[in-house]
Amino acid sequence: MTKTTILFLAGVAGLSVSAFAAARSVEPRATPEPAPHKNRMAVVHGCWGDAQGHLSGGMFEIPETLTPGEPTGLDGFTGRGFDSDNRVDLVIVGDGYTASEMGQFQLDAMSIADDFFRYEPFIRYEPYFRVTTVEVVSNQSGVDNDPNPGISRDTAMDMQYWCGGTERLLCVNVSKARGFAFAGAPDVDQILAIANSSKYGGAGYSSNDLGTAAGQNASAVEIAIHEMGHSLGDLADEYTYGGPTNYSGGEPNAANLSLLTASQMASQESKWHEWLGASIAGFDNPVSTFEGGGYSANGIYRPSNNSMMRSLSRRFNLPSAEKLIREFYREVSPIDAAPANNLAFGIGDTVSIVPMRPNGQPLTIEWLVNGSVVQAAVGMETVSAGDLGLSEGLQSVRVRVRDDISWIRSPGIQAAIEDSRTYFVEGCGAYADINRDHVLDLSDITAFVDGFISGQPTGDLAAPFGVFDLADIAAFVGAFSAGCI
Ligand SMILES: [Zn+2]
Repeated sequence: MTKTTILFLAGVAGLSVSAFAAARSVEPRATPEPAPHKNRMAVVHGCWGDAQGHLSGGMFEIPETLTPGEPTGLDGFTGRGFDSDNRVDLVIVGDGYTASEMGQFQLDAMSIADDFFRYEPFIRYEPYFRVTTVEVVSNQSGVDNDPNPGISRDTAMDMQYWCGGTERLLCVNVSKARGFAFAGAPDVDQILAIANSSKYGGAGYSSNDLGTAAGQNASAVEIAIHEMGHSLGDLADEYTYGGPTNYSGGEPNAANLSLLTASQMASQESKWHEWLGASIAGFDNPVSTFEGGGYSANGIYRPSNNSMMRSLSRRFNLPSAEKLIREFYREVSPIDAAPANNLAFGIGDTVSIVPMRPNGQPLTIEWLVNGSVVQAAVGMETVSAGDLGLSEGLQSVRVRVRDDISWIRSPGIQAAIEDSRTYFVEGCGAYADINRDHVLDLSDITAFVDGFISGQPTGDLAAPFGVFDLADIAAFVGAFSAGCI
């Protein structure tokens, strides 16, 4: 995780910028005036734990606070391929922080950001994230209805508790939150709006990749992580109350709920069948089909007994983690930097790539010549023609980078998250290429000298053969000087 801070001072009457200073230069984008459509409703998630962390809440309909015509999803997770900046951008904006409370905002934001990466798969993939804090100045401190309904405060993003009459549902003006995030951050994939409050609450606007949390509540980050499961992984709630006792809907789209029992799943090779029986450290184990989930107790199954999507302070289960990893890789290519595709490299050049570096097991790097993996070069970030055993002339070389972590079992996902580049690399056909690695370098001089001293054919380059004399040395020096042919 890298952190960037953007200072963005805004008046609450609109989004007028009175000062703008950024860690990196970013042009504020035009932001439409918020004008909520009166007839439209938005569905938000609200899930809050009790003293034991058991979640309740569910789905709530509240008036839409998105400007009509404004696209809902952010630029991330729309299936348009890897992002140019190659990071998942989590942007934290704060509401109800006055100019003199920016220090508090930064403390709150960084505390949440640091704690965000406490469960797998977020621990392993923390280097894939960039967290940007955008400082937004409100006229008044605190947010609406905190702690009780009827308390009104003049703030930049209109955050409020008791949203729709539900005490812990912490709402935000979606258009305003998005406006500040996009104006202040270099890229936006997920937005977290935090309220200057310690009152327990939160909400998730899945279709807007936006979540809310209290800035100073110890459980705030747990809610934020759970909401990320919804908004990033499109995961369903796995708790069993709040809806009809018997589930009567169709097969859920979410990766972590199914109508199928384990045996049906296995025989149909459907849903999380690849995970049945699995237990891997760091996750909620074992994976099977546990009845209850999606707010119903019967007729629907979840992958593990008590995961983060059922209770706070719990781990994710493996089918959920696999889905989250899939979504990380929609934004992040396994190749972080590399020369442009189809570039040609001459004799003696080296080709270097930079893979992403998750915590723990590194990504697998393979170099393929004529479609075959060069075993000697597996894992190498820099290669030359010699490392690849290239014969003479220009040849096509493909480098492929893949995440072989055992937390991905679906062949479809595995295939979707690898990336590759193809280059043309010239191999050397020089006479002085004594070790025949198709590169002319110091190792050839060493090989010649070794052969010369020990009386091997590699040191016997000139007539009379069988005699090791000045003529052999002259022949080698001449051939070496002539270079590749
Ligand atoms: Zn939830």
